[in-house]
Amino acid sequence: MPARLPPFFCLRTLRNKGLREIVVRTSYDITIIGAGLAGLQCARLLARQGLNVLLVDRKNTLDQKIHTTGIFVRRTLVDFDIPDDCLGPPIKHVTLYSPAHRSLELVSQHDEFRIGRMGQLYQRYLQQCLLAGVHWLPQTSYLGHSAANGKLTIRLSTGSSTDSITTRYLIGADGARSRVARDLKLELNREFIIGVESVLHGAVLDGPPRLLCFLDPKLAPGYIAWIAHDDEETHLGVGGYPSLFDPTTALQDFRSRVAGIIDLRKAKQIETRAGLIPVGGVLKNIANTNGLLIGDAAGAVSPLTAGGLDPCMRLSAFAASVVTEYLSTGDVEVLHAYSGELFRKRFVSRLWARRIAATLRQPQLLELGCALLRLPVFSKLANHVFFGRGSFPDVTDQLQPGINQTITG
Ligand SMILES: Cc1cc2nc3c(=O)[nH]c(=O)nc-3n(C[C@H](O)[C@H](O)[C@H](O)COP(=O)(O)OP(=O)(O)OC[C@H]3O[C@@H](n4cnc5c(N)ncnc54)[C@H](O)[C@@H]3O)c2cc1C
Repeated sequence: MPARLPPFFCLRTLRNKGLREIVVRTSYDITIIGAGLAGLQCARLLARQGLNVLLVDRKNTLDQKIHTTGIFVRRTLVDFDIPDDCLGPPIKHVTLYSPAHRSLELVSQHDEFRIGRMGQLYQRYLQQCLLAGVHWLPQTSYLGHSAANGKLTIRLSTGSSTDSITTRYLIGADGARSRVARDLKLELNREFIIGVESVLHGAVLDGPPRLLCFLDPKLAPGYIAWIAHDDEETHLGVGGYPSLFDPTTALQDFRSRVAGIIDLRKAKQIETRAGLIPVGGVLKNIANTNGLLIGDAAGAVSPLTAGGLDPCMRLSAFAASVVTEYLSTGDVEVLHAYSGELFRKRFVSRLWARRIAATLRQPQLLELGCALLRLPVFSKLANHVFFGRGSFPDVTDQLQPGINQTITG
């Protein structure tokens, strides 16, 4: 299984649920819990720096239980190496619907979005991790850890058996409700919306690929309902504050409400996806001498758009730089660069916009807001929200002089 095991390392076997024996070292430089986009990005970058990385996920394979629509924005597509065959056709058209279904058409000069084929992309990044020497433990759950003598002992469960490995540093990429964050005594996400969607094949929507966004406080309180259609795949979903609606019922209602907009009569549902999205902004306290957080575990999601894929790529690349430097120098100051405090300043306007979105529960108010957006003077704002390039702050300028941002991709 693992590609590069020097013979002098102590080995041990773990038996997973499929009774497959997996050979693991007992000691790693870095252990990453969670092989979503954040964990995969960080693992492959760290392994390419020559570090011994263990990547752990409770899933058996990464193309199951996906919980993202997978819309990548232009900025991510430009800055990172997302393989072309893991992406759907480009989208430059957006239609914004008011609660009464009055529409506002927005068209960008650029290809703004592409819907990722996420199962395929996760598998591709995993292959790259393995090629770089990452040791991969699927179907294995993180249970907890303890720290002594500058090392961490990590307890892992593989089916019926529990085992432990040691590591110099622990990275929590275990999603919105991070157990690693809690155990490391770092900050926890507190504000969430919930999203649920159907993935369909065979839906018919005239015109070019497009993103349709519906403002409706009943179907999607505090967020939007959406149709993301790129001719090959259609994602139909609703999102909002969990205490304010029942997402499954809302999704059914939404499906019947859009019958006049998209023809779903011959559409076949191939998947259902759902999950919590942290929208309180990147957390302040996300690193200490034992470990750090990336992706949703760090709250690295745009509070307004709820987009988390760009932050996964950017924050994980930054984390890989910081951890590489920290493990080679032991300089605690290096970790101070990895503070959510620095990123939060850039999120102030989006956090305010989120507060406002959370309170807009009257359809009349949203209808009025949409009418204003249709006025030429305000349509710039709508264009900025959908096509602006300001998603997650660039982290290169957060670096301290000692840290090289040499890790990209
Ligand atoms: C319905 C929905 C639609 C979305 N659509 C978009 C979109 O179109 N564009 C966008 O930019 N963002 C979107 N987001 C947000 C985005 O998907 C997330 O921000 C991003 O996927 C988070 O990635 P991650 O790697 O941090 O976490 P995750 O993808 O949640 O990965 C965490 C991994 O950790 C594993 N794990 C958790 N606990 C343990 C444990 N104890 N032991 C072992 N493994 C564990 C899990 O199995 C999982 O594989 C959406 C979110 C939702 C819910």
